[in-house]
Formats: sequence, structure tokens, C-alpha cells
Amino acid sequence: MSKKPAQVAIVGAGPAGLFAAERLAAAGLGVTVYDRMASPGRKFLLAGRGGLNLTHSEPREAFLARYGEARAWLQPVIDAFPPPALQAWAETLGEPTFVGSSGRVFPRSFKASPLLRAWLRRLDGLGVKLVTRHRLVGWGPNNALIFETADGRKTVRADAVILALGGASWPRMGSDGAWVDLLGAKDVPVAPLKPANMGVQIGWSPDFAARFAGQPLKGIAVAAGGPRTLGEAMITATGLEGSAIYAVSGRLRDGLATGRQTLTIDLRPSLSAEAIAGKLEGARAKDSLSTILRKRLAMAPQALGLLREGTGGPLPQSALGIARRIKAVALPVDSVSGIERAISSAGGVMAEAIADNGALKALPHVFVAGEMLDWEAPTGGYLLQASFATGEAAAQAVAASLKVRLADIAPSDW
Ligand SMILES: Cc1cc2nc3c(=O)[nH]c(=O)nc-3n(C[C@H](O)[C@H](O)[C@H](O)COP(=O)(O)OP(=O)(O)OC[C@H]3O[C@@H](n4cnc5c(N)ncnc54)[C@H](O)[C@@H]3O)c2cc1C
Repeated sequence: MSKKPAQVAIVGAGPAGLFAAERLAAAGLGVTVYDRMASPGRKFLLAGRGGLNLTHSEPREAFLARYGEARAWLQPVIDAFPPPALQAWAETLGEPTFVGSSGRVFPRSFKASPLLRAWLRRLDGLGVKLVTRHRLVGWGPNNALIFETADGRKTVRADAVILALGGASWPRMGSDGAWVDLLGAKDVPVAPLKPANMGVQIGWSPDFAARFAGQPLKGIAVAAGGPRTLGEAMITATGLEGSAIYAVSGRLRDGLATGRQTLTIDLRPSLSAEAIAGKLEGARAKDSLSTILRKRLAMAPQALGLLREGTGGPLPQSALGIARRIKAVALPVDSVSGIERAISSAGGVMAEAIADNGALKALPHVFVAGEMLDWEAPTGGYLLQASFATGEAAAQAVAASLKVRLADIAPSDW
């Protein structure tokens, strides 16, 4: 009689949990994935709404630098499952990838839903059981998992457990960060969850908000007391959103904890102040400043409006004075958006919580993957890349603990 395979319980059916499930089931283990929602991958589907940015094509050094302090422990994890491996995996699901103009990598369909559909079919074929509407609420004797279900509480025992419960942004999609208390009860060190990649609130004048909410600011550079980021922003009724804003939002979040913060926007990053002044000089005296800026710098009405919203008093008279203002529109930031509207969350299970074999020191058969680990990165595909790569690392650690070997990831140059 053949021996029953070891059983792995994975809690969280986001990309990290599903990827770990695929790898372990392909190696012949019995895998059950539990999720509190009625269907898997809700945040992954949401991420695909504006174009699923799977990963980024920039060189390894620049890529790894995006993870800041967490790079120290994430580097070997991402090296073991780097961007080309994620792209190759997407292709095996019928979604070859392409590199967009900004270097971001997208699946051919641009969306998450075809990829997720094909992925769930594959998981089903591998025998992965998907159990929805099961919310992990605690630990039973011998660290069994306790789930809350429509039929009451259920206890689950497994040979190994992977927690891939996500961060705390967009809680309606399932990941609500309630696991912080669950792990806290077991003395697992967790850095507090904070919003990351979020919009900012700025006290616009009523006229500016009414005229320009919903308008984009294209080809700008944004800074908040640190390196500047080129990109786009979207004006909202209460502030700014968009990739360039998200990139500096962590710095603003941390800075606001101790004092006032200013966002500086360069409306013409490709030109020096002198070059801008050169374009403005010699304008016809009868033209208004708006006309001059529109005609000579092709400035959109919302950029002109923003110029007037900046601090520093009335616009200077001289061409160089105006040019300097265009290069550094200073906007006082009232606050950053809350975690419920952020793209991701910072904080999570700290690296020091994890033993050399990859399990939690406090819960030796429990492994952790995805955004619930303590790392932070900008948008641009870095979030999904780290979620998949930590899913792979957790699967490898579980396989080693159960003395099973996973199929090799095809080697790739990166
Ligand atoms: C609007 C938006 C756009 C985004 N776009 C991109 C993008 O283009 N590129 C990119 O790289 N990243 C993007 N992200 C971020 C990316 O989606 C996440 O980083 C990624 O989904 C994290 O994967 P995960 O598996 O760790 O967690 P999640 O995807 O959050 O999955 C965690 C799962 O755990 C379940 N769960 C939580 N608690 C429990 C519990 N107690 N019991 C049972 N189940 C539980 C949840 O229901 C959920 O299904 C975006 C995020 C948002 C909100």
C-alpha cells in the first residue's frame, strides 16, 4: 500500500500562497489552500485592473536596491526566483510577457484574470484542494489551525503550514492584517503594518480642486526631501495619487510622524531652470503668463494651476524666477492616505522571527510568505516579484523539512 503523502496547509490564496501550493503539489505533496474569501486571488485580480505589472526589467543591482533595508535578506530569495523566472512561469500559463516603455513587465493580455484562470486549472490538475470561506482565527492544541467557517469552528492539522495572509491594504479584498494579533499571541516579532505606496492629502484651494480633480500631471519629477522620481501623478479632490507620488509616500509617511512635510514637483524635469528661462524670455508683453507658459512650454492647464497652488507667494516677475518655480513647486502635505486605500503595506513578520530552516522560531512547522513579511518596495512589479519569490522560498523550506525535492527552476541570466 502506498504511503499517504505529507499534508501541507497553506493559508492565503494570493500569489504567494498559490505559488507555494503549485510548487509543493507538483512535488507530490498533499496541498490544501484555505482562504477567508469566497474566491481566491482577489487582490491579484484588483492589481490586474489597471494592467498587471508582474515584475520589472531593470538590471539586477537596480532591482534589488528597490527593497531598501530588506534587501539584506531578500536578495538570495529573489536571486533564487528572479524576474526572468517569473516571466517564464507566466508564459507556461499562456501569458508571455512584454516590457512596457517604463521597463515594467506585463502579461500579454495585460490583465490578471486569464492568468489566474489558467493557474487555478493547473492547481486543480495537480490535486491542490482550495477551501474558501475559511478564516484562520487561532491555534489549537499542538499548534493546529482553527478556522471560522459558516458551519462553525474547524480544526486542521497538517505536517507543515505556510501562512501567506498578505498585508493590510484594501482589506475588502481579503488581506486585513488581522493575523498580526494571531502571531502576536505566539510571540512572533511583527513590525507594525503601515500604508505603503499611497496617495497624499494636500489642502487645495476650492477652485483648483473643482477645476482639476481627475486630471493627470504627466512627465513630472517628484521629491520629498530625498531622491526624485520621474513619473506621473493624478490630481484628486483632496491631493495627489499615482506612481510618482507612491514612490515618495513612504518617506512622507515617516517624515509626517515627526513634523511638517513638503512635496516638491518639477513640472519640466528634462530642462534646466536656465533653459526654461531662455524659452520664456522675449515673450510679447501683452500676453498673459498663462498664455506664455502654454505656448512656449506646452504647459497643460492643470500644471499651470498647480504652479499657482505652490507655496512661496505670488509668481515671480522674472523669467528665471518663474523657471525656478516651475522646477520646484512646493506643496505642503497634510497627511498620507490610510492603509485601507494604499497599494501595499510596509511592516510584517520580521526577518529575526525566522529560523535558519525558514520556519518561524516560535512555531517550528509554520512558514511565512508574501506581503505579510517585513519588506517594502515601490510599485513597478517589485511587490508581486517579492510575493512570488518568497512563496518559492517558503515552498523550498517546507520541502526540505519534509525531505522532498522540488523541481529545479530553469536557470536564467539576470
Ligand atoms: C490596487 C492595487 C494594485 C496593485 N498592482 C500591483 C501591480 O501591478 N504589481 C505589483 O507588483 N503589485 C501590485 N499590487 C500589490 C500586490 O497585489 C500584492 O503585493 C500581492 O497581492 C501580495 O500577495 P500575497 O499573496 O502576499 O497576499 P494577498 O494577495 O493579499 O493574498 C492574501 C490572501 O490571504 C487571505 N487571508 C488573509 N487573512 C486570512 C485569514 N485570517 N484566514 C484566511 N485567509 C486569509 C486573503 O483573503 C487573501 O486572499 C497592487 C495592489 C493593489 C491594492
